[in-house]
Amino acid sequence: MSRQVYINGSFVPQEQATVSVFDHGLLYGDGVFEGLRSYSGKVFRLEAHVRRLYESASAISLEIPMSQAQMCEAIDLSVSKNGIDDGYIRAVVTRGVGTLGLDPNRCSNPQVIIIADTIALYPQELYDQGLEIITSSVIRNHPAALSAHIKSLNYLNNILAKIEGLQAGCIEALMLNHKGEVAECTGDNLFLVRDGVLLTPPLDASILGGITRDAVIELARGATIEVQETALTKDDVYSADECFLTGTAAEVIPVVKVDSRLIGTGKPGPVTLDLKDRFHRLARS
Ligand code: PMP
Repeated sequence: MSRQVYINGSFVPQEQATVSVFDHGLLYGDGVFEGLRSYSGKVFRLEAHVRRLYESASAISLEIPMSQAQMCEAIDLSVSKNGIDDGYIRAVVTRGVGTLGLDPNRCSNPQVIIIADTIALYPQELYDQGLEIITSSVIRNHPAALSAHIKSLNYLNNILAKIEGLQAGCIEALMLNHKGEVAECTGDNLFLVRDGVLLTPPLDASILGGITRDAVIELARGATIEVQETALTKDDVYSADECFLTGTAAEVIPVVKVDSRLIGTGKPGPVTLDLKDRFHRLARS
């Protein structure tokens, strides 16, 4: 089905939704993006996603030529115009057309693109039985090289880890940071449960501050589950009672095996299943 794609203030059929080969988003991955989700036509935590998009843009000195409120409106409109109920939305801002050199000051017209489409979900059996993942040998970018808080169009760090995971038969891979601590997976945040306490790496562990992560922390605290944002090692993962991942597309998905080691009983645990249900209800409320 052909989608109506938003580009710079207008909607065009997806076949006509194109950017220049001189756009630095293409030439250098110079731009930022967000992945959002709609449930029954309503975008989940729209303002938080848009705030993160603008923070990413600001971190790379990219000025988005519209306000956050206008961006929210354009995203809502993309969803309604395409008749999307349960969908996935990609918002992209590129640096725009420039020369073949790096200089971002020679770029004009950042391109603002919004694509609203249906969502490709992980198979249900992975939610029921849990994922198997590996630890990738690819570490997160050093924060002094590229902060994990910037959701930039350059995802090669994550893609290299994803390739390693896929070669091992896993759809997700765990990434450590430059200190050897657990950071996150290639497109999802990671949580552990140990003795009834929910543990997750802190924001300064080279992770993206996930919107789903925030929601799960709130839900857990609301359910009087203790939450600690704390540095974790691979051994903490191996010895955890439960493990799960969070992300806009995945929501909450259990992990039952890491590097061929069973986590807990090897089945999705009770805290994971409880939070998975709570998130499911929150997103659809
Ligand atoms: N970490 C990375 C590297 C991501 O790209 C994402 C988003 N796909 C997440 C974590 C999860 O963030 P959110 O819950 O905001 O989707």
